This record gives sequence, C-alpha cells and structure tokens, in this order.
Amino acid sequence: MDYNKLANLLFPDITKSVADYEEHYPKRKLPPEAKVTRLGPSPTGFIHLGNLYGAFADERLAHQSGGVFILRIEDTDQKRKVEGSEEVVIKALDYFGIHFDEGATLDGEKGEYGPYYQSNRVAIYQTVAKHLVEIGCAYPSFATAEELDEIRQKQEVQKLVPGYYGEWALDRNLNYEDIETKIKAGEPWVLRLLSTGDPSETMQVEDAIRKSVQVHPNNMDAVLLKTNGVPTYHFAHVVDDHFMRITHVVRGEEWLSTLPIHLELFEILGWDHPVYCHTAHLMKMDGDTKRKLSKRKDPEMSLSYYAEVGHFPAAVREYIITLANSNYEEWHQANQEQPLEEFQFSLEHMSTSGALFDMNKLNDVAKDVLLKTSEEDIADFLINWATRYKEEAAPIFTRDRDKLIKILAIGRDEKKPRKDLEYCLQIFDFISYFFDEWFTIVDELPENVNAQAARAILTDYLATYDQNDDNGNWFNKIRDITEKLGYAVKMKDYKKHPEDYNGHVGDVSTVVRLAVTGRRNSPDIWTIQQILGEKSVRSRLQTYMGSLS
Ligand code: GLU
Repeated sequence: MDYNKLANLLFPDITKSVADYEEHYPKRKLPPEAKVTRLGPSPTGFIHLGNLYGAFADERLAHQSGGVFILRIEDTDQKRKVEGSEEVVIKALDYFGIHFDEGATLDGEKGEYGPYYQSNRVAIYQTVAKHLVEIGCAYPSFATAEELDEIRQKQEVQKLVPGYYGEWALDRNLNYEDIETKIKAGEPWVLRLLSTGDPSETMQVEDAIRKSVQVHPNNMDAVLLKTNGVPTYHFAHVVDDHFMRITHVVRGEEWLSTLPIHLELFEILGWDHPVYCHTAHLMKMDGDTKRKLSKRKDPEMSLSYYAEVGHFPAAVREYIITLANSNYEEWHQANQEQPLEEFQFSLEHMSTSGALFDMNKLNDVAKDVLLKTSEEDIADFLINWATRYKEEAAPIFTRDRDKLIKILAIGRDEKKPRKDLEYCLQIFDFISYFFDEWFTIVDELPENVNAQAARAILTDYLATYDQNDDNGNWFNKIRDITEKLGYAVKMKDYKKHPEDYNGHVGDVSTVVRLAVTGRRNSPDIWTIQQILGEKSVRSRLQTYMGSLS
C-alpha cells in the first residue's frame, strides 16, 4: 500500500508536517530541573476535590522548580461542553491560591505553546495523524456500531478480550481502492492506531508516585480521530503534552489502564514520554467502610462547596498538602512559622493506596491556621463571604466590623488559646448570638436549676450587675450569689455531698450564660458582656427572666 497516497486521500487539507510543529513549539529554555505541568480539565462546568488535589501537586512541582504550570482546556467532546467552564475552573482554583502561568485565562490565552483549547488544535492532531498514516501506523476504519457490536458478541462467546484488535480488526486489511471507494461514497470513518503490542508480555513503567508499575503492552487499535476528525483523549493529550513540552503528567489512577496506549503512541512517534504521576483516589470513611469520594454522593467533592460554606483557602491548602505529602506534618511541626511554600513537595511522598479525606481533620487544621490569622483578616474574609453567600449578614458584619474583630479575638491571647474557629458558616453559627438580629435561646436550663431557681439567680445577678466590674470582681459576685442561694462554690464539695446543695457554681454561671448568649457553652461570659455592652446585657437578662415560668 502506498501510505503517502492514503495519507493524502484522508487528509487532503493538511499541508504542514510534524517537523513544522517541532519547530513552531521549540524545547523550552528552562533550567534542567524545571518542571512543566498542566491541568487538563474537560469543560463540564464541574471541578472537584480530586482536580484540586492534582492541581496542587502540578502547581507545587512547577513553581518550586522554577517551571511552568499550564491550563489546557480539553474540550474535544462538544456534547459535554458547558459555556464558561474555564471561568469556573480558574476562579475555583484561584480561591485556593492556585495560579497558572500559561494557557487559558479569564482574558484570553497566554503563552507561546497554544492554542490552549483542544478544539482549536485540530489541525495539529490531524498533521500528526497524517504522519501516522504515512508511516503505516494508523488506518481508517469504517466499521459501523452494529459491526463492532457483532465482533464484541463473538468475542464474548469465545471468552476473548473484547475490542478492535489483531485479527478482529478487519479494516486493517482494506486496500487503497476499497478505502477510496468508501470515502468517495461518503462513508464515515475513524482513524485507528495500528497496534503492534503483545499483551502477553509485561513491562515496567516508571511512575514518579508509584515508583514502578507493571503494565501489559497495548494491542488495541484505539480510535485516534473520531468520525468528525476530532481526536480522542488518548491521542490529543499525547500530541499536546509533546508539543507543549510537558515534563510531568499528574493525573488520576483511572488512566493507568490506558497508559499502554499512550506509551505506544509516544514510541511510534519517536517522542520521549513525560514522567507519569498517577495519583491515588481520594477516599472517605462512610461508617466503617472506606470508599472513593463520589461526585454524586458527597457535596464536599465539589469545590464550590468550600467557597459556599466559607472554608479559608489557607486552611484547605494546608490540609491538601497534609493529605498529599505524608512527611508534611512532621516538617510543619518543626517549622511552625514557615509558609507551606517553603516545604519541598515531592511525588515520592504521595499516597499510592488512596488518601483518606477527613472533614474533621480539615477543620482541625483550620483551627490552627485561623489562630495564626489576624482577627482583622478573618473579619474581612467573613464579610466577603457573607456578601456572596449570606447576604443578610453582610450589612450587619460591615456595620459592626469593630465588634466582629473583638468577638473573633476572644481567648486568642491566653496561654492555651481558644481554637474554635473553622470556616465562615461555622463561625457565623458560633458567634451569631452577639448580634441581636440573630440572638435566640437555644439551650435549656441545667438539670439542677428549675425556672424559679433560675429567676432567683438572675434577680440577684441583675441587682449587683456592674458593667465596669473587672473579671475578678465579676466572678466574686457570681460566687456570692452561689453561696447565698445554697449552691456549692467548689465543685469538689458538691461532688462529695450533692445532697447538701441546690447545685454548684457551674449551674449558676450557666444560667447567666444562657440568658446572655442563649447557649450553655460559650467563651468567657465577662468578655462577652464587655463586647455586648450594658444595655444589651440587661435587656437579655430581663427578657430571659420574663420568659421563665
Ligand atoms: N481531560 C482529562 C480529565 O478531565 C485530563 C486527564 C489528564 O490530566 O491527562 O480527566
């Protein structure tokens, strides 16, 4: 067969050669250790935690080595395309401090290796496809869906691996005249790889995360171009990773099974393949079982969730790196004051068996991160968050910014500082009682205190209340009331002889706390009262007393 003639028949409009593109996309002038990575999201309008996890690795690898991080939009499947998806991706990752150097941006494309939308690179794919035909490594296949189905059924009966390969790949045998006739008759065709692999062999492939993976060579005549001339993922990403001079491909482990196709393509084309880094799935505990995080079942899988409930980007970043590199926590312990960018992120320390994503752990990390964040910054973040996701709170937080800062500062300077701030929605719930707009009584009186006893406590409390008392005086007054009304001042006395008392000092302060905050648990009451101001404190005490019957 005259392959050149066939190539011209199939691609009459392609006039460029692979060599032209080699010249057009020269090797990057970067130091040898610099890594070039890319994120290749499909524009489905949904970006998930797995993408963030991978993007984080991509970003760290590129930026800590003085390399380049690219955003390439893998939009060859027009059916799944959602308008504005790149904006979703860019903004979602930007929220977590992940920025690209090259590729699709909010104001068009940036960089010398574009286009960065696969749909605009069809001429490049077709040029490479034409080359593959010329060297006898790809051929057109006219098999219809019914014919492919028939083949599959026969293979099933014979208990063979299903697919278009070897002797099953009948269109391998078409001669030029057959092909020309079919093309002239307008029969649709796909371009298939003519695979020469032998799957009974095994080969070891280096993987930067898994060290070495064992795979079987490919023997499938994988589709490279679909009937509309647009490439499949397998073909497009090989071509793009080569011409964009990508050095490291970080992607999910679901791609391991088709890796042999990609390797065969690189080999046929005489190109070095990038370093593969197949990340493990993110897992979660569901009851007692560990399972993959699912887009369908788990709201926390969607990145928009984190912005909506107001997770602080610094906290999520810190948690993601904890999850991604098993040696990070130890480093962080030893380098508390250093930003995580100083940590040497490495692929060898990424999990190979599934990283366990744990919301509680994220919240614990957030508590530490927020302790190191100034209350002014937390307040401003809260205001911004409220503007987008809790509209009714935005004007109130803005109006009372100073008060908000004081609230957020409670207990932070102590020897054992309070660590109870996690994310905006949680903080909102945690501090809402400070604002009359949201103040309600949530909890009930302690067991030892009935309504009448509570009224007695609050009557005495109101009678002696002085906004100017310092914390010490305030507590002396609580103690006086405790004694006067027959409650134990010392917990240990109460524990020894509960029958001698109406309750204990904790019961007395809880009643006050309940009246002032609506809750049985809160930070230091005296501090809260200082922030609320006398008028508000007295009014809350009175209202609560009035509600006790
Ligand atoms: N478009 C592919 C995906 O969304 C990208 C995989 C890759 O990074 O190579 O899964």
